[in-house]
Amino acid sequence: MININYLQTNVDISKLSNFKTKAFAKLYFEVKSRQDVDKLKEIFDFAKKEKLKVLFIWWGTNLLFAFDMFEWIVIKNCLQWWTYDKKTKILEAYTSEKIRDIAKSLEDDYGQDIWHRFIGLPWTIGWAVVGNAGCFWLETEWNFLEAEVLNLYNYDITILQKNEINFSYRNSIFKEKEGYFIIKVKFDLNEKVEKYSSEVDNIDFRENKQPKWNSGGSFFKNPSKELSAWKAIEEVWLKWYNHNWVLFSPLHANFLINTKLNWDWRDLIYMIDLAKTKVKDRFSIDLEPEVRIITN
Ligand SMILES: Cc1cc2nc3c(=O)[nH]c(=O)nc-3n(C[C@H](O)[C@H](O)[C@H](O)COP(=O)(O)OP(=O)(O)OC[C@H]3O[C@@H](n4cnc5c(N)ncnc54)[C@H](O)[C@@H]3O)c2cc1C
Repeated sequence: MININYLQTNVDISKLSNFKTKAFAKLYFEVKSRQDVDKLKEIFDFAKKEKLKVLFIWWGTNLLFAFDMFEWIVIKNCLQWWTYDKKTKILEAYTSEKIRDIAKSLEDDYGQDIWHRFIGLPWTIGWAVVGNAGCFWLETEWNFLEAEVLNLYNYDITILQKNEINFSYRNSIFKEKEGYFIIKVKFDLNEKVEKYSSEVDNIDFRENKQPKWNSGGSFFKNPSKELSAWKAIEEVWLKWYNHNWVLFSPLHANFLINTKLNWDWRDLIYMIDLAKTKVKDRFSIDLEPEVRIITN
């Protein structure tokens, strides 16, 4: 069945998700260069013909692998390189660059502190655009200019401008319509815009107030303004409960953490289902995961 020789087979992808559960991919490809972007067209044709699903991964901080062997194709985006023009204050970056590294270097090497609040955050700059990610009221959309994308329907490489991205709170066109492979993004860092100012020391917050173990950040969406997910989990006495070294963190009860490497995904699913059932029984509320659970 496999007729594309650069697809690797039966690859261990356990380290590609922040939860580090033991997982393999039947077919695997890393995008490391512009030439590799061209190969995606061929891979997508192949996937369509063979009716195979495709999963993109950046740094896997938002993915929980709930399978032993992923039967379809995993594509890891490894495109890295960025540049900042001190005169024009334009930043250009391939999407697998980590936002915390860029934010830190902008400050240390260029005296540009607009993205100070992004220091310490674990995700990629690609995700920042997809999820309009934000931190203490500093949102990605404010300085965004354009994105270079591969359209997976017609294989055109095009530039999408800000008004085509439909940013809203933690949302964009990329979340609503999966049809693009995002290659590169551009930002104009001339002006600092934020919804509200914040005095929170984000570096101290990330270092000392968030759990350090393998996690996907906040696991469930907050059910309502009145009831946050961490509160609901605490109220049903799941804080401190430990199932085979998988637990909701005592530091922040909405962080599902896996305290050992290569643990069985079934233990994480057990805890997720337990939390959902207990919260439903107590509050008649359905907890919805924010983390993307990947199944076959
Ligand atoms: C400790 C911690 C704290 C966090 N705090 C915050 C916070 O304060 N604010 C906030 O907004 N978020 C927060 N998050 C969530 C954060 O936004 C995510 O983890 C982010 O969703 C994923 O980043 P990633 O770059 O690792 O992408 P991945 O998890 O690898 O992928 C995320 C999604 O993007 C898709 N994707 C991958 N590559 C591409 C591509 N080239 N083109 C199109 N789609 C692609 C994937 O299929 C997947 O659906 C936190 C997470 C952690 C672990």
